[in-house]
Amino acid sequence: MEKKSLKQNEIFASEEEKFLSWSEVLISFEKKFGTEIYSSWLKDIVLIKEYNDYLILGVPTRFFRDWIVSRYLDKILEQVKTFKLTLNRIEFKISEEAKSLSDEGLKQGEFNGVAEIKDSILNYNRLNPNLNFENFIEGSSNKIALSSSKRICEQLSRYNPLYIYGGVGLGKTHLLNAIGLELQSKSNVMFISAERFMYHFIKSIKKNDMVNFKDFFRKSSVFIIDDIQFIRGKEGLQEEFFHTFNSLIEKSSQIIISADRAPMKLDRVQERIKSRLSGGLIVDIDLPDYELKIKIIKKRLEDIQNEFKENCNLSEEVISYIATESKTNVRDLIGILNRVIAFTRIHKRQLNIRDCKQILKDVFNQAKVITVDRIQNTVSSFFNISITDMLSQRRSRPLARPRQVAMYLAKKMTSRSLPEIGRRFANRDHTTVIHAVKTITKISEKDEEMKKNIDQIKGLLLEE
Ligand code: ADP
Ligand code: MG
Repeated sequence: MEKKSLKQNEIFASEEEKFLSWSEVLISFEKKFGTEIYSSWLKDIVLIKEYNDYLILGVPTRFFRDWIVSRYLDKILEQVKTFKLTLNRIEFKISEEAKSLSDEGLKQGEFNGVAEIKDSILNYNRLNPNLNFENFIEGSSNKIALSSSKRICEQLSRYNPLYIYGGVGLGKTHLLNAIGLELQSKSNVMFISAERFMYHFIKSIKKNDMVNFKDFFRKSSVFIIDDIQFIRGKEGLQEEFFHTFNSLIEKSSQIIISADRAPMKLDRVQERIKSRLSGGLIVDIDLPDYELKIKIIKKRLEDIQNEFKENCNLSEEVISYIATESKTNVRDLIGILNRVIAFTRIHKRQLNIRDCKQILKDVFNQAKVITVDRIQNTVSSFFNISITDMLSQRRSRPLARPRQVAMYLAKKMTSRSLPEIGRRFANRDHTTVIHAVKTITKISEKDEEMKKNIDQIKGLLLEE
């Protein structure tokens, strides 16, 4: 699907130079990132200046800028490129206009005390009625996670916390949501992503309103927090989470947590938190096996049949092909299936295996594209610094080392030349890149920590 929209825009861009309609771009952000991220971080971005190959965007505060740059820059660039293909860079500035936009949001009572916290949280964290136990399909990769989740609902505090971990798209959020749905009639359920928790935490600090924040989160009897790995490297947030966690446990509230890795593998998280997280039951979800993939495909076809009364049969051969070739996760599997279904709808006929291979050619054969942008993004968020700082001329070690690591990886993992890499690092000379490569090679030969960091970053780049 991505490919297709790119093509459309190639045509678009080859016309005479286009100017962006920023409001359309914003609408597309909401679609791409979801309402939660959009309204927390992206809606106040303003377009300050537009050049042929880059944009200057305005955001309300430094904190916003760092947060957006470290987490969403790649995707934002990718998205605006679908409007204007010639863009290859985005710069952020702190802007008065963006600031007044977001102050207005505050004035309109988005955040004036418990009731509002509650409203805004409910708005963003409403449980999704479609992610329930009935439509969660059991397989050997998720059997234990599923049964533990169900057992928690029957007997609270049996394990506390319940900690579910696994890679992206394997059903963690689905299970957490299902637990929330199941318990919401009899308990005071709080369901929140760690990212969102952080957002409220920061807002409360800024508004000097920590009392309400603490009360609010500590009064739930079931506290469900998704993607806890977000707290890595964020000391203040960890401190607050630790206290929230303790006071919940003290009053026997049930805690359910998801993460992308086991508690002990959460680097840059305080030991005492890791040990708390390991204090209950830890279960993992693995990649779906062939059998589960087949079940998921068939269930989805059945649902479509029932919901739209439309015949959308796929042959056993096609189903088996999709299940065999889709090797990543359930979310991707569903995406692939949707693509095939869209095709049968358009062409109003059953697909044969050759059509299917054709449609999915680019999906299954797509090599991981590692770009300098992605490396810069991943490295800066790994070391918890902003890209702007990483690319700046400052020479302090906490900035210089990550900068060198990023240059090193750019040389090792992309086919860019040394001068090209230099240019991408705020127009540095190619000799600087050579120096960085040498330095990091030398350090990682001797220093275990550095070697480990580099391996981890490589892992992140390859798995994304
Ligand atoms: P995670 O939180 O682990 O990244 P999600 O819970 O968001 O993953 O799952 C990704 C998508 O896959 C969701 O649409 C979810 O409903 C679906 N999904 C994952 N596992 C299953 C399953 N066992 N049965 C049905 N749907 C599943
Ligand atoms: Mg999730």
